[in-house]
Amino acid sequence: MSLSNMKVLRAFWITPGGPSFLSVPSLEYQNCIGILACEDLITHERKIYIGNASGLNEDWDTRHIMEWGAEVSASVLKEFIAMEAEEVKKTGMDICVVCGKEYEPAENVIVQLTCSKECHDKLVESFIARFGEYKRVIRASTGEAFRVPMRDIIEEGISEQTLDKYPKWKEEER
Ligand SMILES: [Zn+2]
Repeated sequence: MSLSNMKVLRAFWITPGGPSFLSVPSLEYQNCIGILACEDLITHERKIYIGNASGLNEDWDTRHIMEWGAEVSASVLKEFIAMEAEEVKKTGMDICVVCGKEYEPAENVIVQLTCSKECHDKLVESFIARFGEYKRVIRASTGEAFRVPMRDIIEEGISEQTLDKYPKWKEEER
C-alpha cells in the first residue's frame, strides 16, 4: 500500500505530559505516541499503525507513523477492549481520577475519567491552572494560529476542521 493513497480515518495521540499538539514545544510532549487508523483509497484496505511521535506537528507525526510505525492487528485491539469491558462488567464500577471514588460509568461514553460533573470541572480547572485558559494552536497546513479554550481541547479535541470556529490568535493576547 502506497503512502500517498493513505487516508487517516482516525488519529489518537497519547501524551503523558498533557494534551497534544499545543504550539509551545516542550520536553513533556516529546514522548508522545500516535495510533492511526488508515484506509488505502484505492484498495480500501484498512490498517492500524502505532508509533512514536514528536507531539510538535501533527502532519509530520502522521507521516512518520505511516512510514515507520508498527502495524497493529484489529484482533489485538479487540482483545484489549474485551478485557476492559469484562473488568467493568465484573464490578460494574470504575475509579474516578480526581476523587478516587468508584462510580458506575455512563453508557455510550467511550472515555469517562471522572465520577461527576463536579470532578470533571476540577480536572478541567487543573489543566487550565497548569497550561493556561487558552492555547495558541497552529493549523499545520497553513501556519495560522487560533485561540482555543483549554476546555474545548479536553472535552472535544481539536482537529484541522474544527479550528475555524475559533478566533485567530493575536500576538498581544496571552
Ligand atoms: Zn470523583
